Amino acid sequence: MSFLQNHPALLETAYDATTRVLRPWRRWLRRGGAAEKLFIVAEQVGKGAVFDCRMCGECVLHHTGMTCPMTCPKKMRNGPCGGVRPDGGCEVLPDRPCVWTEAWQRAAHMPKYGGEIRLIQPPLDRRQQDRSAWINELLGLPDSVPQRWAE
Ligand code: SF4
Repeated sequence: MSFLQNHPALLETAYDATTRVLRPWRRWLRRGGAAEKLFIVAEQVGKGAVFDCRMCGECVLHHTGMTCPMTCPKKMRNGPCGGVRPDGGCEVLPDRPCVWTEAWQRAAHMPKYGGEIRLIQPPLDRRQQDRSAWINELLGLPDSVPQRWAE
């Protein structure tokens, strides 16, 4: 499914459209309810196929060039580690490109959210693992730490 990831402007449009469709239903959504179970299955299947989603529960795809940072072997959510190879390869898995070199290249083709790759992501709340990221997006995370911009 890297075709879609390599056309991130399409995914950006799909993200916006999905948000617009789901937002009016917010008031009927509850954490832990039947709707969340449906969302979880949909995310496992859909985002799993397209992004190799690891169900972290706090999706940052539109900030990271539509590239899932949780597929990084070190789970780096704020840019690459210091081990990126000169050819842009991963330090841990040299036969793979660094997730962050891909994220950076893809973000350059995202007219709306591409610049948000410079946002500093707050620490991941591991309690959200295997929860629905869409429910968290729509209802807001409890005790969330605001993002800030890199200088
Ligand atoms: S950032 Fe989290 S929710 Fe989004 S695709 Fe990656 S693992 Fe899945």
